[in-house]
Amino acid sequence: MQILHPFAGSMQRYSEEVSDPDRYRPDHCPQCKAKHPLTGHGFYHRTLVDTAFDGIIRVRRYLCRSCKRTVSLLPEFALPWLRFSISVIALFLVARLLNEFTLKAAARAAAQTAMAYQRGQFWIRRFQKQAPTLSLALTPLAAPPEAADFVSRALRMLESTGWITAHRFLFSQLRAHLLGWPAFHATDARRTTLAPAYSTS
Ligand SMILES: [Zn+2]
Repeated sequence: MQILHPFAGSMQRYSEEVSDPDRYRPDHCPQCKAKHPLTGHGFYHRTLVDTAFDGIIRVRRYLCRSCKRTVSLLPEFALPWLRFSISVIALFLVARLLNEFTLKAAARAAAQTAMAYQRGQFWIRRFQKQAPTLSLALTPLAAPPEAADFVSRALRMLESTGWITAHRFLFSQLRAHLLGWPAFHATDARRTTLAPAYSTS
C-alpha cells in the first residue's frame, strides 16, 4: 500500500497561506520599480492537477498604485499556462525519457492513470525542444553530466538540482519556462508572467 504524502500537505498549506495578503506581499513593484508595498487585489483561480490533488487553486494578485498594473503570485509548484504541476510532469518525463517506461507506465508513475496519452506526448515534444536551452541555462546550478543527448543531460541536471528549485531559478532569473513558452506568449514573456495562467494542457 502506498500513501501519497508530500504534495497534498503543501497544497493545504498553500491554501492557508494564500488567504493572508501580507504573507508574501511584494515590498516594491517589479514592473515600474516603485518602492512601496503593493496593494492586495484579490485572486484569480486556476486549475491544478498534482499527484494527490485535482481542482481549483487561488492565485494571489496585487496592484501597484503607481503604474496601476497587477502582479500575480503563482505558487512555485505550478507552471504558467500548464494545468499539471511540476511534480507530475517531472515524474512522467523522468519515467518515460530517462527510465524508458512505456507511456502508460510513465503516466502511472506520475499518478495519472487516466491521463490521455496525447498529453504525455505533448509534454515530451515540448521538453525535447526545450532541452538544449535547459542544459545551458542550468549550468550555474548543476555541473553538466556525461550524457548521450540534451534530453538526458537536461533531465539529470533537473533531477540533481530539484525541479522546483530549477524552475524558480529559470523563471525568476531568466523568464525561462521548463517546457518553453507557447508561441502566443513568446513576444512578450514579461507580460506573460503577470497574466492569468492559461489552463489548456
Ligand atoms: Zn508599478
